[in-house]
Amino acid sequence: MATSLNRRTFLAISATTVMGGVAGTAGLAALAPKAQANDRSVKPDRVVPTFCELCFWKCGVLAYVKDEKVVKLEGNPKHPLSNGKLCPRGTGGIGALYDSDRLKRPLIRTRLNGEEKWREVSWEEALAFTAQRLSEVKAKYGAKSIALYSHGHGGAFFKTLLKGLGSTNIVAPSNDQCRGPRESGFELTYGVGVGSVETIDTPHARCIAFIGSHLGENMHNTAVQDMSAASARGASFITVDPRFSIMAGKSKYWLPIKPGTDTALLLAWANVLIEEGLYQKDFVANNVEGFEQFKAHVKDKTPEWAYIETGIEPTVIRETARELARNAPAAFVHPGRHVVWYGNDTQRSRAIAIVNALLGNWGKKGGFYLPQTLNVPGYPTPPLPKGEGYQPRQTFPLAAAPCAYDVCDASAKQGDDAPRVHAWIVYGCNVPLTLPNTARTIEAMNALDFVVVVDTMPAEVTGYADVVLPENTYLERYDDLDTTPYRVPFVALRQPVVQSLHDTKPGWWIAKQLGEKLGLGAFFPWQDAEDYLSTRLAKANLSFSDLRRDGVIVGKAEPIYDDSPTQTFKTPSKKIELFSKTMADAGLPPMPEYEAPEEPPPGYFRLLFGRSPVHTFSRTTNNPALLEVVPENELWLNAEMARVLGLEAGTKVMLENQDSVKTGPITLKVTERIRQDCVYMVHGFGREDRRLTRGYKRGASDARLTTRVKRDPVMGGTGMNVNFVTLYRWKEA
Ligand code: SF4
Repeated sequence: MATSLNRRTFLAISATTVMGGVAGTAGLAALAPKAQANDRSVKPDRVVPTFCELCFWKCGVLAYVKDEKVVKLEGNPKHPLSNGKLCPRGTGGIGALYDSDRLKRPLIRTRLNGEEKWREVSWEEALAFTAQRLSEVKAKYGAKSIALYSHGHGGAFFKTLLKGLGSTNIVAPSNDQCRGPRESGFELTYGVGVGSVETIDTPHARCIAFIGSHLGENMHNTAVQDMSAASARGASFITVDPRFSIMAGKSKYWLPIKPGTDTALLLAWANVLIEEGLYQKDFVANNVEGFEQFKAHVKDKTPEWAYIETGIEPTVIRETARELARNAPAAFVHPGRHVVWYGNDTQRSRAIAIVNALLGNWGKKGGFYLPQTLNVPGYPTPPLPKGEGYQPRQTFPLAAAPCAYDVCDASAKQGDDAPRVHAWIVYGCNVPLTLPNTARTIEAMNALDFVVVVDTMPAEVTGYADVVLPENTYLERYDDLDTTPYRVPFVALRQPVVQSLHDTKPGWWIAKQLGEKLGLGAFFPWQDAEDYLSTRLAKANLSFSDLRRDGVIVGKAEPIYDDSPTQTFKTPSKKIELFSKTMADAGLPPMPEYEAPEEPPPGYFRLLFGRSPVHTFSRTTNNPALLEVVPENELWLNAEMARVLGLEAGTKVMLENQDSVKTGPITLKVTERIRQDCVYMVHGFGREDRRLTRGYKRGASDARLTTRVKRDPVMGGTGMNVNFVTLYRWKEA
């Protein structure tokens, strides 16, 4: 049996695979070509409800099956998150199922004749080897030396596994690379975050301000449907963005703000609302703590002051503040989603939360609704150990969870005796392209004693694994129940639509098998997924067969608004806290303060990145159906800047950042729709694994260029919009 290799070379799946004695899946590839696109003409043999995993929104899906092939996906009309519709990515689920590049059988990294290779192995061998290596690491360095990187609904069973092992090192990029500062900012202000799905009452809003929120490009199904409803009702939109985004195109106002100055605009909006007496006075008097201190704090944050910072005319700042106030409380500043930008992100999210408090919209129709959850008890298991692990609050005083970025740092070599993380379990998370500074992540992975990756596709992360455990796609497996808090309480089921196409397994089965081999079977006492799910549902007096038939059960709707003059909040003062004593006690500014961003060096542009409506990061950039629609990313460059640089639309360019990291080629999009001081590209392209036969080297990777971050001092978020690039014609590279 091969043991771990001290240093890993990137090992692409298939290229150097030694064929093992595992049953092949010849003939299955023949399913692929016809079935990759939705076929509307076929009469199905059956229609199976489940929920989508092309992103993490979890919309209800109806899967049409003919001759054991999935031929069409459409939205489940009974599911409140889809309302009978899918977004463009969701229809690409067939491409994910029939992608010929999928991981098809378990693999162990081995060395043969001095060369690293993948060896195809049985599940029994892969699981026994993984359990043995995790046991060895735990015995040698303790449970806290093991970490789980997890992204996606199926990660729940692996979290149980890690907790059972006694480690608390459970990290998700959705915290410090995405939504964490927003949740911190709202929790510090209101006592609760805004969740995912965000608790905004978009369909009934009369005015919404978006700050760097690319709705329409960030294609979350229900959010876009809600936006259409608001638009149809005549709502006005204000978009604050250095780029004329899709949302800007739908807006009454576009504020092309200087990147990094959003907090200045928010403080100036607060100044106008207070100084002109436009805030919701009764709501503030009854529900807000620290108003007088905040009023004094923003006294000098006038639109004229903000103009110097943001480049937005004072008249426009006043007009947009008045537009919000005129429609309050059915008006809100959108809390955003991917919010790790400049390092002061919790403070900016606090400023958003506070402007919303001045609009008096919490619990109000057209503002923030109060979400409902259908309570489904867990499967009875013994209590999990308390656990030990990385302590984020030693560095970031109000961190709610360990940061993925810090656990990566804690995995790199730091001297022979320094305590560190020695093993990673990675579930559905392409860590090298998800964390900033790819080279740093790879260095950390190379220093680990053991890496096991559970995923459906080869990716940059599988190239550095010791063991690869191929998971079923979402159309081939059960997962845990979904009870996302929403405007109606519901429980939804993910269930197999077709049998496994390859020698792959569902995540629940992999976690249970590993748990049993590690002596943790007590935490996985159920027979199988059906036993687990039906037992949970029975405890809530719900029928498993009803859920299998419909895909979703919607509970009794309760009021989602609170019209009482005084509400109670889960903050220390039980009020909305404009002045946060919690922050003051932690040595942090108790009210949001503006920090001017660093300027780009001469000849450089600030690098901004975002989403495509048909892709979810690198998860979909090999998907045969979705690549047909958007095959690569482009670099947006202002037309005047292109003229100065002598570059034309369609030119292939290379990017180089402030740390001399290069990428490219990427095609230039020359446009008036972006400011002159920044460039923009879609995240997730520039794949480096040759075995991704469609995605390899399409476009360029922004992750490679994001070598610097600015940490959020409150919770540790990695502000990533602090990198600068220059560009050259590709042939000159
Ligand atoms: S938003 Fe789109 S990709 Fe995401 S779960 Fe819904 S349908 Fe699937």
